[in-house]
Amino acid sequence: MTEATMKIVADLSRCVGAGQCVLTEPALFDQDPEDGTVVVLDEQPSGDLVRAAYDAVRVCPSQALSIEE
Ligand code: SF4
Repeated sequence: MTEATMKIVADLSRCVGAGQCVLTEPALFDQDPEDGTVVVLDEQPSGDLVRAAYDAVRVCPSQALSIEE
């Protein structure tokens, strides 16, 4: 994992709007006010947010989030 090249990818076709990602790290994720699907606020986080990004991928119940390295 290198912070400079990682990228959070959200598959909106899989997102069920559970909001677990937002609860995990509100600095990285928000939810669309219309349909509740995830909005990635920072696709290429650094520092402590890198770990938070991986945590969010893990907790998402629908595997909508992934990280490209
Ligand atoms: S946790 Fe997963 S399903 Fe829930 S809003 Fe985030 S990306 Fe979507």
